[in-house]
Amino acid sequence: MLDDLSNGLLELLEQHDPEVSRILTDEATRQSTTLELIASENHVSPAVMHAMGTWMTNKYAEGYPGKRYYGGCEFHDQVEELARQRAKKLFGCKFANVQPHSGANANVAAFMAMCEPGDTIMSLPIKSGGHLSHGLKVNFSGTFYKIVDYDLDPKTERLDFDAIAKLARQHKPKMIICGYSAYPRVIDFAAFRTICDEVPGGAVLMADLAHIAGLVATGVHPSPFPHAHIVTTTTHKTLRGPRGGLILSNDEEIAKKIDRKVFPGSQGGPLMHIIAAKAVGFGENLRPEFKTYCKQIVANAKALAEALVKHGYRLCSGGTDNHLMLVDLRQRDPNLTGADAEKWLESAGIIVNKNGIPNDPRPPMVTSGLRLGTPALTTRGMKEKEMGLVAQMLDRVMGSNGDAKVCAEVREDVRGLCADFPLWH
Ligand SMILES: *Cc1c(COP(=O)(O)O)cnc(C)c1O
Repeated sequence: MLDDLSNGLLELLEQHDPEVSRILTDEATRQSTTLELIASENHVSPAVMHAMGTWMTNKYAEGYPGKRYYGGCEFHDQVEELARQRAKKLFGCKFANVQPHSGANANVAAFMAMCEPGDTIMSLPIKSGGHLSHGLKVNFSGTFYKIVDYDLDPKTERLDFDAIAKLARQHKPKMIICGYSAYPRVIDFAAFRTICDEVPGGAVLMADLAHIAGLVATGVHPSPFPHAHIVTTTTHKTLRGPRGGLILSNDEEIAKKIDRKVFPGSQGGPLMHIIAAKAVGFGENLRPEFKTYCKQIVANAKALAEALVKHGYRLCSGGTDNHLMLVDLRQRDPNLTGADAEKWLESAGIIVNKNGIPNDPRPPMVTSGLRLGTPALTTRGMKEKEMGLVAQMLDRVMGSNGDAKVCAEVREDVRGLCADFPLWH
């Protein structure tokens, strides 16, 4: 199976470097025999995977299509232009920069395009579901900009637009960021834009779609356009493309700034093999099957959420509208921690990440919560029925306090479920 998938490349690697080859095949086996519930992860198609491993990696293509600093870029121009066209079509916007190496790099360029060092930026802190690149002290964002945190309503655990508007009036930020890493609800981009427009001179609205880009591209989540001035995303989460970043806009002046701040502002040569794979991924995203897939992600998340509630768990904000949920473990068992649950579940073949819940009394390396997402399981073809089984397995492990015998039993059940929904055919 793996040999079919790898087109003989693994055989080549096995002869050339058996040490690395063994590690790669072990990882493929790990992925195919475990349940991936990390909300930010997914499994790319063999076509996307192969596009990454091509001779496109051999080229320096600093600059943009038609304006490169190196000769020999004819086909790199073609593939980057194709990636840009497909990205624009996918998100219904006028400009796309496909060069950011990652989501965080896309954000560096977006900040540089829209703000000067020292400017005030409002964002949701990481402890409430934001991303580290939105203002964490030790990150570039927290180092070079003045960050004002907004927060969730402590009762509803949802965005509190009255409080955000009040903070914006008080601090007059240059930019407000919406889009998160652990927020299970729909984002009202229009409400954010209203708040931005009320700031004297107008604040810039930046939407970071990293987690929800696939849902947005297929209309399963509302679009940030025409509300956001600048939109960033990763390409590897719900979008199920190669690991990378993307920046979108509808304004020619902003687009020019973005291009300059990606290159030469914050990056050198683009990863052309990844850009080729982005083009392949966007091509997949434009097909009707991808919309069916995104709808199923959300249906699966709802099914998993409901099943967990039946097992006695509390979900932050009471449920989910998108692909992920934040599980507060304390209602099921006050002594249960995210760190323990993550470790026990891994031994049972279920891969999750511990995650702080809003106002978590426990430190970030312990936490009282888990963040669970359905994109990867949905890629395997699982539906609502399997989500019920997965919830049962989760509860067997956590309900037994990680009992070794129970974890070993669940591990076998996980293998069975994985075999019924093979990753690679
Ligand atoms: C994942 C994520 C990113 C960063 O992506 P990387 O590719 O890991 O740099 C940025 N913003 C949000 C909201 C994310 O969830």
